[in-house]
Amino acid sequence: MAVERTLSIIKPDATKRNLTGKINQKFEDAGLRIVAQKRIHLTPEQAGKFYEVHKDRPFFAELRDFMASGPVVVQVLEGENAITKNREVMGATNPADAAPGTIRKEFATSVGENSVHGSDAPETAREEIAFFFSGLELVG
Ligand code: ATP
Ligand code: MG
Repeated sequence: MAVERTLSIIKPDATKRNLTGKINQKFEDAGLRIVAQKRIHLTPEQAGKFYEVHKDRPFFAELRDFMASGPVVVQVLEGENAITKNREVMGATNPADAAPGTIRKEFATSVGENSVHGSDAPETAREEIAFFFSGLELVG
């Protein structure tokens, strides 16, 4: 297993409910280190650009507007197998399908408002980290 970095976003439904610390605790308990982190409020244009891969999906406009509806915390998580490990800690996209103890099981309210985003592969992790952070902001 290699040390990897992955892009994580704590979504507006979770920042609104003051869950940043509880979610970060889940990452740290799983051995993931937060090596970069900032709280920002995306414009709809920025949110749409980030989720451009989903632009033809029926839920695209809802997703874009939700991601711009309040502050998000964007972060880089580092650790052994971090991309897969983070997705395990997050749980399934739909909280109804998420395993007990996962972030989405405990905190998400719906398939759209599902509290966290995580990169799904090494290439997307690299692109997504570069979307939000410069090299100087990554402190391992
Ligand atoms: P993410 O990319 O946010 O980590 P994911 O990889 O588990 O989540 P994707 O299939 O990439 O899921 O979908 C991206 C996001 O789009 C989901 O996290 C969710 O917020 C939203 N989404 C997915 N399916 C639906 C749906 N049917 N209705 C509304 N929103 C949806
Ligand atoms: Mg995804």
